[in-house]
Amino acid sequence: MAYKISDDCIGCGVCASGCPVEAISEGTPYVIDESVCIDCGACAANCPVGAPAEA
Ligand code: SF4
Ligand code: SF4
Repeated sequence: MAYKISDDCIGCGVCASGCPVEAISEGTPYVIDESVCIDCGACAANCPVGAPAEA
């Protein structure tokens, strides 16, 4: 399991800054590397628009 970022992403970068394993890369939308994500949920908790969700 890993989190994925939906097209609701507004590109604010908060999730990337808060990811403990630096799994999130800048993009439109931002992208989570599933092989690096440890499923901690921080990105979902921090995102202002609820774009990251468990895939
Ligand atoms: Fe996109 Fe949410 Fe990450 Fe901001 S915190 S870049 S809106 S997924
Ligand atoms: Fe990073 Fe945690 Fe989000 Fe995975 S769930 S991308 S480890 S903040």
